[in-house]
Amino acid sequence: MKTRIDAEQIVNTFLGYTTINTTAEPGNPHLPSSDNQRQLAQRVADELSSTGSVKAQVADNAITTLSLAANCPEMPAIVFFAHLDTAPDHTSDTQAQRVKNYQGGDIVLPATGEVISPAAFPELQHYLGQDIITTDGSSLLGADDKAAIAAAVEAIRYMTVTPDFKHGEIKLVLLPDEEIGIRGAKALDVPGLNADFGICLDCCGVGEYVIENWYAGSAKITFKGVTAHPMSAKGKLVNALLMANDVINALPVAERPELTEGREGYFWVQKLAGDTACATLDLAIRDFESDSYQNRKSTLQTIIDRLQSRFGRENIILELSDTYGNVKEGLDKNPVILASVQQAMLNLGITPKPLIMRGGYDGSVITPAGLPTVNIFTGAHNFHSTTEFIPVESLRLSGEMLLEIVELSGKGTAA
Ligand SMILES: [Zn+2]
Repeated sequence: MKTRIDAEQIVNTFLGYTTINTTAEPGNPHLPSSDNQRQLAQRVADELSSTGSVKAQVADNAITTLSLAANCPEMPAIVFFAHLDTAPDHTSDTQAQRVKNYQGGDIVLPATGEVISPAAFPELQHYLGQDIITTDGSSLLGADDKAAIAAAVEAIRYMTVTPDFKHGEIKLVLLPDEEIGIRGAKALDVPGLNADFGICLDCCGVGEYVIENWYAGSAKITFKGVTAHPMSAKGKLVNALLMANDVINALPVAERPELTEGREGYFWVQKLAGDTACATLDLAIRDFESDSYQNRKSTLQTIIDRLQSRFGRENIILELSDTYGNVKEGLDKNPVILASVQQAMLNLGITPKPLIMRGGYDGSVITPAGLPTVNIFTGAHNFHSTTEFIPVESLRLSGEMLLEIVELSGKGTAA
């Protein structure tokens, strides 16, 4: 077993970060959406600067770049990515608890009495005999994504004190507001990183890594109706809500989130608001194949064209936008990246579990922008919930993974 990352050290680092509440605020258009994200960024910058080997830059928008110069410049330049914010579903000011030597059965969360039970979460059985960090029940834990920050910080700290460990240029980039539209990654100067590949740590249980995710876009449709008094409405009233309803009814019935899985795409009717005079309809569009994703946008355009010819072009306005893309294309062009992720897991005694992600992460914006960026496990479960938990050994292994991938990159297994 490789123990370059010390379990107690990484736990302390992680728990320190969980004391800063970095809940994203979707209603705030600024970057970062909450000030504490900058506070966490500054804390990490101070910690790594104090090693004397890491250059830190914290921008006003909280995008933070921590750079460790290469001691072997011919090796690939690698960027670790982690996000600063936590999901707005709950706050993130929990008192974390450490369950020592878990022996099975329910874990009680002390502040609320809520339980994490093996019946509801069978994956707990994989962690018998291990220490597990949970919330106190009052909020989420924030392992998504503070566990990633801790893993990257400890991996970099190891490199700064181990001159024999060969590496190319290593950067840790902290990004704000991933949870509310991947806003930080969208504001990032990706070419400016000047790197060979990236690693996000923003997923799931030990061994899991993302080999593809889907294309995501959104549509906002505005309908303008004509009001009239109901006693003389015949032939005059045009109901904007019913125009919106026509769009909903024209969408393929079987292609909804609740009826699809695996690599199936969908239209998601997310929000309908308004009255007779004016209504807006928000849709989310998802598909794994670029062609099918484009076809979905064309399908919607055709539905709108038909309604426009009935109600007037100026009375129905469609705004389509792309949110992020599938990382598969970028990762397939550089097959050594996924190969080195798998090899690193095998070297550490971890079973690789490739995942197709029905969602997006910072890499879904960064990869199409030119830097292929894989997503590997932090070891945490039940993201965005008060039952979020992370086994200590999984967290430690996520740090080991970074070191192992860096080491393999010198042997030609990575880019
Ligand atoms: Zn995350």
